Amino acid sequence: MPKIDEKLEPILAQVQRRNAGEAEFHQAVTEVLESLGRVVAKRPDYLDHALIERICEPERQIIFRVPWVDDGGDVRINRGFRVQFNSALGPYKGGLRFHPSVNIGIIKFLGFEQIFKNALTGLPIGGGKGGSDFDPKGRSDGEIMRFCQSYMTELHRHLGEYTDVPAGDIGVGGREIGYLFGQYKRLTNRYEAGVLTGKGLVYGGSRARTEATGYGAVYFVERMLGTRGTEFAGKRAVVSGSGNVAIYTIEKIQELGGKVVACSDSGGYVVDEDGIDLELLKDIKEVRRERISEYAARQSRAHFIDSGSIWDVPCDIAMPSATQNELTGGDARKLIANGVIAVGEGANMPSTPEAVRLFQEAGILFGPGKAANAGGVATSALEMQQNASRDSWTFEQTERRLAEIMRGIHDICAATAEEYGKPGDYVLGANIAGFVRVAEAMRAFGVI
Ligand code: NDP
Repeated sequence: MPKIDEKLEPILAQVQRRNAGEAEFHQAVTEVLESLGRVVAKRPDYLDHALIERICEPERQIIFRVPWVDDGGDVRINRGFRVQFNSALGPYKGGLRFHPSVNIGIIKFLGFEQIFKNALTGLPIGGGKGGSDFDPKGRSDGEIMRFCQSYMTELHRHLGEYTDVPAGDIGVGGREIGYLFGQYKRLTNRYEAGVLTGKGLVYGGSRARTEATGYGAVYFVERMLGTRGTEFAGKRAVVSGSGNVAIYTIEKIQELGGKVVACSDSGGYVVDEDGIDLELLKDIKEVRRERISEYAARQSRAHFIDSGSIWDVPCDIAMPSATQNELTGGDARKLIANGVIAVGEGANMPSTPEAVRLFQEAGILFGPGKAANAGGVATSALEMQQNASRDSWTFEQTERRLAEIMRGIHDICAATAEEYGKPGDYVLGANIAGFVRVAEAMRAFGVI
């Protein structure tokens, strides 16, 4: 188990004290600080001017009331969040999550991860994250619209194309971004396309943004497999979740000749030994917004399982793409026993620390979310570029840039891991490479 360097221990203790009870945030900070021991041993100057302490403290945290009226005429109240974590490299950038589990600790963990992820892309974007404990499940379009409008009515004063640029995440897709952008435009009387990404194509969105996180994660894993002289073709894969990231992960794996035999939602998972029927999955999830159990109801060769874990299904490649801490130590043991060779995180922090340790000890290729799923935010930055130049690129051009960026992220993680004495450790490589970029910019600004 990596240990925190004693010079960094007081920083973690302070984070834990100051953010009491925020378990996911503590987990994310602990992982990064574990990696930074090797940096401060080589470069003790990074301990100067409380640089690391400042990275662990958000620049600004906004918490607000979101009142809205449901279809029955009752007033509902949710809580809205935006954590503007770090703007050393550019405007705050990171998605909005609408899910009942959202609280300030979850948003802080996501915002913290986002800083390093965005730095890894090499593009000029800082780190932030936001959301609400609003549960979109079962809500009508009208309710979703009124909620989004109320949320933006407060948030808009904190946003701007040079200030803070949100996007989607769990529970926030194209429909929600449309309502949020419409309300921002109405409140500000400005057509400021670069203030949100993940927009529809007719009003300033980028081609390939919808596909980008999933495709990017597959490119990252493809490059990891390449270091061992192998590829997706002929491999069995399991992808958890069945939302935006999962669907386009499945699509790209299939294009590369792999077979995805299982996917899930929070109600259970489906196994389809002939390979997931993507058209059916998209119809269920993107068009009808139904549960994954519907897949087995409409495809007789598939089974729906509502107990146990999707990670019980044997596979060569596992791509957790649903939510944080969904893949436990027990799941990792099962995957290893079943012969998994690579794990690529499409979701943010889906593997528990124990699972990560087990994968690494077993010599399995492990791509952490902050590197492997950076294709989404990278393509959001490409959307901002297109908006700034009032241009619109082709799908092929955008996907080519995405593929190049993912190659770059893989290679800088691999090179950094090697430079710091742990070849093949993508967790260490991602944390250090991301940190160094942010730290250098912060140092240039002095104490702010
Ligand atoms: P979606 O809302 O489109 O899909 C989320 C999927 O995960 C759904 O199938 C959902 O099932 C499942 N899920 C969510 N919460 C849970 C839970 N507590 N237990 C079990 N299943 C759950 O979200 P995305 O696909 O956009 O996001 C998935 C992950 O990828 C998140 O970790 C997100 O932070 C990360 N990510 C997303 C990016 C993007 O561009 N969208 C970019 C980078 C990372 P159900 O419908 O039943 O809730």
